[in-house]
Amino acid sequence: MKTGLKRSKQRDAIINYLRSTKEHPTADTVYMNVKEVIPNISLGTVYRNLNLLAACGDIIKISCDNKSERFDGNVHPHYHVICTECGEVMDLEMEPLDHVNVLAGAVFDGRIEEHVVYFKGICKKCLKKLDTAK
Ligand SMILES: [Zn+2]
Ligand SMILES: [Zn+2]
Repeated sequence: MKTGLKRSKQRDAIINYLRSTKEHPTADTVYMNVKEVIPNISLGTVYRNLNLLAACGDIIKISCDNKSERFDGNVHPHYHVICTECGEVMDLEMEPLDHVNVLAGAVFDGRIEEHVVYFKGICKKCLKKLDTAK
């Protein structure tokens, strides 16, 4: 993937952390972890670089409802399911829904280039909690 961004120690540390986790962390969590590598980095710098990296396609920004944004170092197209109970964002291993673009293109005069989908559900942990609360 082509990026116009110059490499920097901060951005490298952010990308390295995001590529090492499957957790889809919030900016705050990214900050806590990158701080261990670059102790003097500020939360503002982390926010700014996360948004820059997302804009350049080096990472993915997942905005779900009004809850905080999550970040993903896996830029390979994949789907997410968001737990409506705890807000956790999880990867979904499933076939890409490419035919959705064809369906949309059939009723759109322009050109469809991509679609953005996320699923909502309740994760296993929360299901268990809900069950035992009954
Ligand atoms: Zn949950
Ligand atoms: Zn993901």
